[in-house]
Amino acid sequence: MSVNKSHNWKSSYHSIFDQKLQDIKNEGHYRYFNEIERKAGQYPKALHHKDGKTKEIDVWCSNDYLSMSQNTEVMSAMKNAVDQLGAGSGGTRNISGTTRFHVELEEKIAKLHGKERALAFNSGYSANDSALTSILSAIDNCLVLSDELNHASLIEGIRASKREKVIYKHNDPEHLKAVLKGIPFNRPKMIVLESVYSMEADFAPLKEIVEIAHEHGALIYLDEVHAVGLYGPNAAGLAEQEGVADQIDIINGTLAKAFGLAGGYIASSNSIIDFVRSFSKGFIFTTSMCPAVAAGTLKSVQTVQNQPEIRSRFFENVKLVKSELEKAGIPFLDSGSHIIPVIIGESKLCRKISDYLLEEHQVYVQPINFPTVPKGTERIRITPTPSHSKEDIKKFVNALTQAWVKFMPKHEQFISSNLQAKK
Ligand code: PLP
Repeated sequence: MSVNKSHNWKSSYHSIFDQKLQDIKNEGHYRYFNEIERKAGQYPKALHHKDGKTKEIDVWCSNDYLSMSQNTEVMSAMKNAVDQLGAGSGGTRNISGTTRFHVELEEKIAKLHGKERALAFNSGYSANDSALTSILSAIDNCLVLSDELNHASLIEGIRASKREKVIYKHNDPEHLKAVLKGIPFNRPKMIVLESVYSMEADFAPLKEIVEIAHEHGALIYLDEVHAVGLYGPNAAGLAEQEGVADQIDIINGTLAKAFGLAGGYIASSNSIIDFVRSFSKGFIFTTSMCPAVAAGTLKSVQTVQNQPEIRSRFFENVKLVKSELEKAGIPFLDSGSHIIPVIIGESKLCRKISDYLLEEHQVYVQPINFPTVPKGTERIRITPTPSHSKEDIKKFVNALTQAWVKFMPKHEQFISSNLQAKK
């Protein structure tokens, strides 16, 4: 690019961005946001606003897995906190931005994961990004072993630390072993992975990873964002369910998915948490979460733990959606987790199917396109909640079956014979 003084010189800068946007429009993965207004207490019902018109729809793609954003106890805790403390936190954690809700939330999270201490961030993304950057930067010559499907926040945190990184094949302990072969035990190492991969919906082989880490002297950083609140006897995530939480050095989680609000955290030893608290720029130089968010998430963690029926209803619904999809002959990735991806494999088609479902059937699943998933694996990602009724489920599967017949012709035969067999 060159800046020509005789012209409107600013346009040469803008054309860079316009061209990049045009490229992704041509490729079909430009992002259009649907304006969705959820109705408190009536989830999954929501209002969809488009072109001056409003329709009621059912949401089927939210990460508010347990509908905790709509939980009346959580909503009251937030309202009370606003009444008591006001709306904002007023500063960074160091400069007047630490309230009793922040302190209690961190104590609760540490207890949840059985760790000495925890640290809350404004999002799970910034927890990963900031914690990994600071921790890895402090460990000279640390080799990072990173699962190939790790989330952008993990990748960015590792990248910013400038430490050497080797990517191992997704959820493949044998490949991880092969990568580690010949690397001296005394070289510092960290394995970075997720417990539930939300786009593939699969579980990490945590027990094997823990064994490998032990054998090779590696720390483990585990992102439990899609597992915390859902799995394990105390809802602490997959590491708890697998009985290996005490072997994981740093656990990352979010307060925005199963716990329904916003914010993220890490839980670890006293020294690691104190270090991140004292050295991580992404923690130090930002305003702390609003007190109402800290109060609401604290209440949400307590409620999920005290009311196991919320999780039972959730898992029953996941099972029901899967069995209805099977009956309808709609293929989906099933690795046993709560997320149900249906692969479409083409970005424009994925958007068409999503638009059709929304416009014609008033059910909403967002198309998941590149860069969230690799090109050619575009998908819709179904997330049942405890709030979906049996009727909602039937309506949704029926709508998806019609979309499948209309847009995925090579599957039509298969589906019609399945439907025939059901009659
Ligand atoms: N880690 C993983 C695996 C995620 O999928 C996400 C987000 O969606 C995050 C971290 C970031 O969490 P948050 O939404 O709290 O920023």
